Amino acid sequence: MLLGSHVGMSGKDMFAGSVKEALSYGANTFMVYTGAPQNTRRKSLKDLNIEKAHELMKEGGIETFVVHAPYIINLGNPVNADTYKLAVEFLEIELSRTAAMGSDTLILHPGSHVGEGFDAGLKKIISGLNSVLTADTPVNIALETMAGKGSEIGRSFEELAKIYDGVKYNDKLRICFDTCHVNDAGYDIVNRLDDVMAEIDSVIGLKNVAVVHVNDSKNERSAHKDRHENIGFGTIGFDALMRIINYAPFENIPKILETPYVPSPDDSKKSFAPYKYEIAMIKSGVFDPLLKEKILQA
Ligand code: FE
Ligand code: FE
Ligand code: ZN
Repeated sequence: MLLGSHVGMSGKDMFAGSVKEALSYGANTFMVYTGAPQNTRRKSLKDLNIEKAHELMKEGGIETFVVHAPYIINLGNPVNADTYKLAVEFLEIELSRTAAMGSDTLILHPGSHVGEGFDAGLKKIISGLNSVLTADTPVNIALETMAGKGSEIGRSFEELAKIYDGVKYNDKLRICFDTCHVNDAGYDIVNRLDDVMAEIDSVIGLKNVAVVHVNDSKNERSAHKDRHENIGFGTIGFDALMRIINYAPFENIPKILETPYVPSPDDSKKSFAPYKYEIAMIKSGVFDPLLKEKILQA
């Protein structure tokens, strides 16, 4: 089972620190941002400590990891030409950084149409992807399934398929299946997982799913909210998430936790990473209702 979480990248260690963090959770894969997700400031590649990171990965038995593009990339903006241009340029940079770091998968939120309607946003997303993807792009872009909050595009498998349809080199496109987002978008992955999987298979193809984001949800199905919850503590629940983690066609793809840090009840500035505990719980196959307490006591 390829199981890990998103990890940070900062300080002097940079990417090597990301690998250390993943290993400290008992993970055998991870997801990283090539810099702060909310801005475009990026350290130069030579300051990322890539060689050291690869040494640590080799020692620790990590062979695969994925990169997440920053949220500020909005290819779907049909109104502001500068936002769109920045998104395209930055996506190009992110693709080359992903390749340089040694990953073949960059996860991207397709974009938001900012009120101009789905068709206008879709057109921009398609033209943006067509301007960055070439026959030689060494990295695949995994479009993330979105919860459908605001004007997000990618709230259904059909919307993602429409992006595929417009992109010339769509052999470079993949899907990142986010369990919280799919639930919030309205798919019943709790009671009707087989139907949902049959649907994604007929609309996009299950073989295109390259990453799973494993998150419980704080909200009911169809809420279009996108608020992640710790594994087993939300509306999806432990058993349904385990069925997805163990879903046979997903066997060889990374499962990445993006669940929230557990806040300290005494100090609002403090919170604790749940990943070591969630990974152990998932491996054990048994839900631990006291998990959050254990995280706080550690
Ligand atoms: Fe995401
Ligand atoms: Fe996600
Ligand atoms: Zn989310």
